[in-house]
Amino acid sequence: MDLGAETHLNPRAWKRRSTTTVTVGEVLIGSAHPIVIQSMTNTDTADVEATANQVEELWAAGSELVRLTVNTSAAADAVPRIADALATRNVEVPLIGDFHFNGHILLPGHPDCAKTLAKYRINPGNVGKKTWDEHFATIVRCAIEHEKTIRIGVNWGSLDQALLTRMMDDNASLAQPLDAHSVMLAAIVESALSSAAVAEEIGLGRDRIVLSAKVSRVPDLVRVYRELASRCEYPLHLGLTEAGMGRKGTVASSSGLSILLSEGIGDTIRVSLTPEPGADRAEEVRVAQQILQSLELRSFKPQVTACPGCGRTTSTFFQELALDVERHITDRLVHWSEQYPGVEELSVAVMGCVVNGPGESKHADIGISLPGASEAPSAPVYVDGEHHTTLRGDGIVEKFLTILDDYVSLRFGGSH
Ligand code: SF4
Repeated sequence: MDLGAETHLNPRAWKRRSTTTVTVGEVLIGSAHPIVIQSMTNTDTADVEATANQVEELWAAGSELVRLTVNTSAAADAVPRIADALATRNVEVPLIGDFHFNGHILLPGHPDCAKTLAKYRINPGNVGKKTWDEHFATIVRCAIEHEKTIRIGVNWGSLDQALLTRMMDDNASLAQPLDAHSVMLAAIVESALSSAAVAEEIGLGRDRIVLSAKVSRVPDLVRVYRELASRCEYPLHLGLTEAGMGRKGTVASSSGLSILLSEGIGDTIRVSLTPEPGADRAEEVRVAQQILQSLELRSFKPQVTACPGCGRTTSTFFQELALDVERHITDRLVHWSEQYPGVEELSVAVMGCVVNGPGESKHADIGISLPGASEAPSAPVYVDGEHHTTLRGDGIVEKFLTILDDYVSLRFGGSH
């Protein structure tokens, strides 16, 4: 079997699908740039303080773009004030306005909002029925006037029904009609592409358009995005809509996005997790980062590899050590990132016994192999693949963390 550098099995050889570069504030989206992480607030946008706080949380967690619902006049009025509040806190993140039903009224009626937002998201299924052309054109002209980017974001829950009906009718007259589900997926793609074509006809530059076509089932997501990717060069915003809560949302999003990202499809991602009441909204940002880092497409923080443990480990000591190392890194991450450029590439291994411990530890930058149940009570530490020392007795955790700190300072402080 060929596992060489050029195969599809090597993430470093994955080729991004070639896409146009689009500007959103200071952020560039497209195949010539790293895949951008974005998120969305769930506060009432008219509540300036609450929304600014949440944007700051999302930004601090690593969201490079943040989207806000702009659904009322009060929300549109609040947008420039939210931007001002963020500026006083030195939070520099482009804001995106999410418009449904009344974008054609809110954007022209609130020029400061239109000017402040870096991108407008419009859903072609929620623009208007008989008045679609007129409303859509109003929003596009607003984007042209203010030199903004638009995301044409189709969602299967609000698909353009007139387009779907037309495509269903056309399909029914075919000698070998497709099943209804396939026609619906084709309509999603068609809605995105035909809306983008209309936007270009009105005068919006190709470098001002991002597309998305969100569905809530992984196999559908893959089908839709593969088709979309094969038919245009617009950058694509990937995400599973209504991914769900907790484990289900995380796993479903990771599964769908990973398939597409491994095929080079996707220029910006959002993980649409439903947080539990009161839970941290920024979890979706951390999951998005972890997806990109697990695929080795981007690096955000040092990675700790830990074995799952098994009958060879009778205590929870190694699980606690893995947790301590993870916490140690998380607590220091902001400081390390400022002090030690490149530290996000660091890999640490914490292993439970001699079976895989030394091997895995040697593959990491720094690793420790703890003693299994029947092994001698000693813990060899490996640095850059070489045996560095063997820890024994009390204080193994503290000693290992000191070795870790020294390694980070030496290697990323420039004197290693
Ligand atoms: S490294 Fe050892 S303790 Fe960890 S899972 Fe493998 S055999 Fe079990």
